[in-house]
Amino acid sequence: MSGVNEIRSAFLGFFEKNGHERVASSPLVPRNDPTLMFTNAGMVQFKNVFTGLEKRPYSRATTAQKVVRAGGKHNDLDNVGYTARHHTFFEMLGNFSFGDYFKDRAIELAWNLTTKEFGLPKDRLLVTVFSEDEEAATLWKKIAGLSDDRIIRIPTSDNFWTMGETGPCGPCSEIFFDQGESVAGGPPGSPDEDGDRFLEFWNLVFMQFDQVYAATRVDLPRPSIDTGMGLERMAAILQGVHSNYETDLFKVLIGAVERAIGSEAVGDRLASHRVIADHLRATSFLIADGVLPSNEGRGYVLRRIMRRAMRHARMLGAEEPVLFKLVPTLVAEMGRAYPELGRAEALISETLKLEEKRFLQTLDRGLSLLADATEGMSSGERLSGETAFKLYDTYGFPLDLTQDALRQRGIEVDLDSFNTAMERQKTEARASWAGSGEAASENIWFPIRERVGATEFLGYGTERTEGAV
Ligand code: ATP
Ligand code: MG
Ligand code: MG
Ligand code: MG
Repeated sequence: MSGVNEIRSAFLGFFEKNGHERVASSPLVPRNDPTLMFTNAGMVQFKNVFTGLEKRPYSRATTAQKVVRAGGKHNDLDNVGYTARHHTFFEMLGNFSFGDYFKDRAIELAWNLTTKEFGLPKDRLLVTVFSEDEEAATLWKKIAGLSDDRIIRIPTSDNFWTMGETGPCGPCSEIFFDQGESVAGGPPGSPDEDGDRFLEFWNLVFMQFDQVYAATRVDLPRPSIDTGMGLERMAAILQGVHSNYETDLFKVLIGAVERAIGSEAVGDRLASHRVIADHLRATSFLIADGVLPSNEGRGYVLRRIMRRAMRHARMLGAEEPVLFKLVPTLVAEMGRAYPELGRAEALISETLKLEEKRFLQTLDRGLSLLADATEGMSSGERLSGETAFKLYDTYGFPLDLTQDALRQRGIEVDLDSFNTAMERQKTEARASWAGSGEAASENIWFPIRERVGATEFLGYGTERTEGAV
């Protein structure tokens, strides 16, 4: 059985052996890219290499990239704990060709790694291609010997990758593992594709065109390759389990949660244990990369993740700060691959403990307000936006925390009235600021500094987080 650490090494070693430079993960906060909340794929650090703006001394690379998908274009926050395959933080393994090899070699390398190195049986694998990419379908047939019914043509943007409105783009091809009939879900492209039976684990992007204007697409002179495989998903496949959360690393983390809180991960408590284990990783890696909890931008995404984990810990019975106690286990498991985690250990623990202490002061009161406000409500009913806003404003409940708390009961938050209440508060804050003269500068400046933090300012016009002030 391969543990995550061995699988990561095997992937990087395989591509190194095949002439790829092993490049370190870039930080979760993208350098020089204010349009992106967090690094959300392996290609982010190579963006300028693909467009030709930047030159590197190599034309093939391989990485294990730290990724967060909890804000912006990719947001998997609401999936975490409830699907078997989504995390907020995960590791994306990738191989890249910058105008070097293209489709045929990319498919051959992926197929060899999957079936030879990792030994996955061919009859459990299927692939998707973009419906207009006959070339890819033919190559899969030739290289992998896949029959037609195992090559699924998808006409949607799921199989056509773009960097933005303009720039490099192209079709992609994804590899799926069939976990067997005992797991619900249909093949990709079918109405019930969101089930887990057919698990997507690798996306191969063929950067083939340059979108010059909205309607004009030309061939790239030197097409490129960008791929991403979810390490945790491959670990689940190789370890024969149906959920990322049952793999070796997550078993250890969930075990630590059980001990710290004194609560067994069974039945309807399982989701909370999983959320905590997931959010512990996201929190720790974000802090190690310089993000601190705040009320705006990246720091607010971090705060939302932290507080959400805290609510789940509270639901499991924790009365005191506990999340900070889990940090040593995480460092022991992942610190060798990511030394920045060990270097930041004290900062991570202290930040968590402080945030936990603060939030625990209002969490219980907020939860009882919520319980009162929803008493007797049943599935399909809505909580008023004013109440959700009061929870946000007075008790520090991010909107998604309230939504998450109501999820199991099928109650939703009325977003229109929530947004109205938020707008009203902003207008009032502006009005009081305008009239209050000198004394205000201290009151305004310090909270703003605390919110924005020294490294947090994202600039104007960048994407904003839902609920951020
Ligand atoms: P899904 O359809 O399952 O949400 P995706 O199509 O959004 O995945 P890609 O953008 O193609 O994912 O990313 C490449 C690979 O990264 C995926 O094939 C998968 O193995 C992995 N991956 C994507 N999102 C997550 C996540 N939230 N948690 C863990 N692994 C993920
Ligand atoms: Mg997704
Ligand atoms: Mg997908
Ligand atoms: Mg995909």
